[in-house]
Amino acid sequence: MTTLGTDDHHRLATPATHEHGWLVESSHAVSTGRILYVRCAECGVRRVDHQDHRRRPPEPLSRELPGRPARTRG
Ligand SMILES: [Zn+2]
Repeated sequence: MTTLGTDDHHRLATPATHEHGWLVESSHAVSTGRILYVRCAECGVRRVDHQDHRRRPPEPLSRELPGRPARTRG
């Protein structure tokens, strides 16, 4: 077993180093299900998801788009 000195990574609150907590900002119905516009409450990253059924988890349609933390603006 080898332990690498990567503890520093835990300190960085960047989009790449934490699990996003997605909040649905808005959504609308489309013929294939619903489109969800989500934003991470932690870092403000945005993403567009598609959900084809209420009981199924949404799938990302877009890449994660850089955004601003919610606290700076609406
Ligand atoms: Zn995030």
